[in-house]
Amino acid sequence: KRRIGVMTSGGDSPGMNGAVRAVVRMSIYRGCEAYAIYEGYEGLVQGGDLIKEMKWEDVRGYLSRGGTLIGTARCMAFMERWGRLKAARNMVKRGIDALVICGGDGSLTGADKFRAEWPGLIKELVETKELTPEEVEPFKHLNIVGLVGSIDNDMSGTDATIGCYSSLERICSAVDDVFDTASSHQRGFVIEVMGRHCGWLALMAAIATGADYVFIPEKPPSTGWEDEMCGIIANHRSRGKRRSIVIIAEGAHDVELKKITAYHVKDLLNTKLKLDTRVTVLGHTQRGGPACFYDRWLSTLQGVEAVNAILDATPETPTPVITIRENKIERSNLMEAVALTKSVTAAIEAKNFDRAMELRDVEFKE
Ligand code: ADP
Repeated sequence: KRRIGVMTSGGDSPGMNGAVRAVVRMSIYRGCEAYAIYEGYEGLVQGGDLIKEMKWEDVRGYLSRGGTLIGTARCMAFMERWGRLKAARNMVKRGIDALVICGGDGSLTGADKFRAEWPGLIKELVETKELTPEEVEPFKHLNIVGLVGSIDNDMSGTDATIGCYSSLERICSAVDDVFDTASSHQRGFVIEVMGRHCGWLALMAAIATGADYVFIPEKPPSTGWEDEMCGIIANHRSRGKRRSIVIIAEGAHDVELKKITAYHVKDLLNTKLKLDTRVTVLGHTQRGGPACFYDRWLSTLQGVEAVNAILDATPETPTPVITIRENKIERSNLMEAVALTKSVTAAIEAKNFDRAMELRDVEFKE
């Protein structure tokens, strides 16, 4: 029986458990055995109890739970060749030659690298007599499929990542809560949301809550934004609005790439508009909580597709990542998606913001 490993890696996101559940059950359904790799790449490197066979019942109740029940970690050892060598040894010993990894672009880049190195790693393990030629015979190639688990929705080539809609839901309800108190006291609030280099959470939250102003990394405000923002908020106030909300992405900056912080914006509103303004940094509440409907659905369908992609793969198939585009679950080229993602950051760093926006929206090439 073919053995398929599933793991979660990098930052956790709601929906990762749904992905693990779907991969485990689809693997069994397709006649394979499923193995959970606990604690991300740490589990591969350490082996032992961190690699555990999962039966159908073992993932019962996973679908609605937040975080990742099989754990995640940042693993320094896997960044090094010796760590990946240990990982390859543990996998062969357990008879696992296929992995579904749910994580961000870091984790998925590591996975692709591991796959490319695999034949060399196996050769070395035989040469150093860690493994026998007979043991490695059925494991000449490693199969990898990526699932994107991230609250940031920062991967190019897919409309949504597993976790982003749950996080957005949490942000919107937190902003609603702040609205009540802001309105009672006629206050201003500056709300900082996560997203790293990506403004998706901030932008969507701003639209969904009707915020007065928003800062995102891909489209920084032009010089003189302070007056523009204060003008807009003063105008809203003059029309009787009792509360003012500014949403700021954690990666926000101005056109000169100078960081704009929530406290900076708050001070401006306090001094320029004499508006009693507070800062709320939503922090890790944005990652927690149960997965919303969309993430349960997405992780289930993508987990199923990941197992199908593993079973279809040949040594020549480029490593796939499972995406969703225009409501269709698809397979894309993982490293192309990663490269495209990196090009957005590069465009921002080159102050080519129009290009950054264009790339976020880009029509993904096959
Ligand atoms: P994310 O997957 O959320 O982007 P990280 O970038 O922190 O998170 O990556 C998670 C883990 O994936 C790292 O701790 C490391 O073990 C592994 N990893 C990331 N990048 C690489 C790489 N280039 N080569 C090998 N392993 C990597």
